[in-house]
Amino acid sequence: MSRLRRDPRAERAAHCLAGEGPRPRYDRTRRASGSGRPRRDPRAEREAQRIGGAARLRYDLSQISRPVGEAVTAAPRAAPVAEAPKTIIVESPAFLVAVVPDAPGGRLSGHDRQVIGAARALAGREGAVAVIVEGDCEGLGAAGADRMLRLDGAEGYDPAARAARIEAVLASLGARHVLFPESLDGGDLARRVAVGLNEPLFTNAEVVAAKGLVRPAKGRRVEQSLAPPRLATVAPDAVADYAGALREARALPFEGSAPAVATSIVSATRIPADPATVPLSLAEFVVSAGNGLSDLDTFRQVVAALHATPGASRVLCDSGLMPRHTQVGASGTVLAATCYFALGISGAPQHLQGVAGCEHVVAVNTDLHAAMIERAGLAVVMDAQAVMPALLRLLAEEAAGQGKAS
Ligand SMILES: Cc1cc2nc3c(=O)[nH]c(=O)nc-3n(C[C@H](O)[C@H](O)[C@H](O)COP(=O)(O)OP(=O)(O)OC[C@H]3O[C@@H](n4cnc5c(N)ncnc54)[C@H](O)[C@@H]3O)c2cc1C
Repeated sequence: MSRLRRDPRAERAAHCLAGEGPRPRYDRTRRASGSGRPRRDPRAEREAQRIGGAARLRYDLSQISRPVGEAVTAAPRAAPVAEAPKTIIVESPAFLVAVVPDAPGGRLSGHDRQVIGAARALAGREGAVAVIVEGDCEGLGAAGADRMLRLDGAEGYDPAARAARIEAVLASLGARHVLFPESLDGGDLARRVAVGLNEPLFTNAEVVAAKGLVRPAKGRRVEQSLAPPRLATVAPDAVADYAGALREARALPFEGSAPAVATSIVSATRIPADPATVPLSLAEFVVSAGNGLSDLDTFRQVVAALHATPGASRVLCDSGLMPRHTQVGASGTVLAATCYFALGISGAPQHLQGVAGCEHVVAVNTDLHAAMIERAGLAVVMDAQAVMPALLRLLAEEAAGQGKAS
């Protein structure tokens, strides 16, 4: 393709404004004919962006590419319409994979989520995952549940009665597979249900896939695999959570009734462990002190008032200010807590390794750019010495308010 050769002299002569003084003057707002694009006039554009009526000069810079002369108003731009998150619905599943999570306190634990993730791997596209919960439970759809079966009126912690309730539900549900977490409660329940139903149980599965389940045996020297059985327990931290789009978690009615169980257990209640003495690896809520904290007496009061387990960074343990067993991190204890509250801790990589599994992290630090602040879901950029008394005061007020109400 050939292009016309430009003649700059002729172009310049064409823009010459004749008869205006002794010096030749040119109109530079026009471009050479045929170039197609008008030359920009920044002054005129700026004038067009001006918002009238204000005492100070104000410009609407969102109008930068608006053609000159077009009216400018200060009307706010329409907010972008957020797309509703897509929910995956399995209308008529070919089969069901049931999950019985521990769901302590009506919330799925990390292990529960992994078991639901394993169930999703078994269900594939055709099947649906049905989660059986006692009472309310949050976040089932996000965890990968297509159906939710809620048992009400379950009182007490009698494990035999719970197993009988789950057996009754499973009989009415007709699930192809049933998965439990291999945890203290979940493992016990799975064994009771297996005995009650007189069915084999595949325990401690570390690989869960549609073609089979795998578990270690003989001190991890061999692996045992089996085509997906009906009842199985899933090992902790072996299977990934469900990471896909939100699922429906449609409520299923439970038509059957839980049988009355003749149990030899007279009374079953949960006795919470003393948070001050519970091992750090089992603690639910850990409050930790770092090198940025100078008032350790107030720190101990905060830990007691929050009913938390005390933790510390290595610097405090090395200096003897906190006991060695409170050290959180790679060379201390790796936590599985639901909530971690860090006061005056920088968040060195070795420390952050210890809190990688914590669901919620709250940090108080004077340095906005500290790694701990970056890791935290809730960050307070303040002096920890000022935050602690304020927190104690709020907790005391809350306790006094509760005392009056009761
Ligand atoms: C092999 C190896 C293993 C290690 N293992 C561990 C481990 O398991 N656990 C561990 O914790 N460390 C470990 N460390 C040490 C780690 O690298 C850090 O040195 C240590 O975690 C730092 O502790 P810190 O954040 O309390 O102290 P610093 O690094 O001194 O940070 C103090 C923080 O407090 C903030 N601060 C200061 N004043 C205030 C105030 N008034 N209010 C609020 N904030 C304030 C500062 O901004 C700073 O961010 C290890 C190191 C090595 C080399």
